[in-house]
Amino acid sequence: MITIQNLTKVFRTEEVETAALSGINLEIKKGDFLTIMGPSGCGKSTLLNIIGLLDSGSDGSYKLLDQEMIGLKEKGRSRVRKENIGFIFQNFNLIDELSVYDNIELPLLYNNVKASERKQKIEEIAEKLNISHRLKHFPQQLSGGQQQRVAVARALVNDPKIILADEPTGNLDSKNGNEVMELLTDLHAKGATILMVTHSDYDASFSQKTIHMKDGVIFSERFNQRNVDVFMDAK
Ligand code: ADP
Ligand code: MG
Repeated sequence: MITIQNLTKVFRTEEVETAALSGINLEIKKGDFLTIMGPSGCGKSTLLNIIGLLDSGSDGSYKLLDQEMIGLKEKGRSRVRKENIGFIFQNFNLIDELSVYDNIELPLLYNNVKASERKQKIEEIAEKLNISHRLKHFPQQLSGGQQQRVAVARALVNDPKIILADEPTGNLDSKNGNEVMELLTDLHAKGATILMVTHSDYDASFSQKTIHMKDGVIFSERFNQRNVDVFMDAK
């Protein structure tokens, strides 16, 4: 699904140049659930933003579904993003002025989904995420855990090819955080492809493989024990 080769990212301001990514190689297959960990400032969000087409790489190759993304103009990136990517952020990034229903509807509007189909998809996903009773409310009326559920619903409503989550439990207490992790684990079990950034070893243990970054490079990739156990049990 995704092949990244020698990807670099340099942020330039008038005074300084920051090499945020210095030669990333990464392969993500359909159905993978991968985690990225590493110290603050090592480039995790930069990598996720490039994969999610919110930003573009400086050099190297990033192929999504066999199409090269490096060098693609913002308009093309935006189209590919809206069709393929579901993004979940640490601070939820809901639009406060819109109801829960309207927030979840956004990706469907971007993709010109018919009105009747939009309603059906929103009601379906709301039910799955246990927020049906909240559709008419506004984000500020909801708990953090519920807001992140809405954000997950918005990320999923248009059946994205890949779900990207940047510290999705970072602003949640452990109960709500665990619920979000259960949700992601459940989606993965049903075939979703997920790439998640986290600081939590516990959250990472739900994924198949943890990628460790430092100073803009990947320095190790490790399969997680929980999944090795599941694999051994299955055998
Ligand atoms: P992480 O998510 O691992 O904490 P980031 O990807 O946010 O790290 O940042 C990696 C490096 O790139 C840091 O040195 C950060 O200061 C820098 N950086 C990130 N975004 C920008 C930006 N928009 N402009 C300039 N520098 C940036
Ligand atoms: Mg970050």
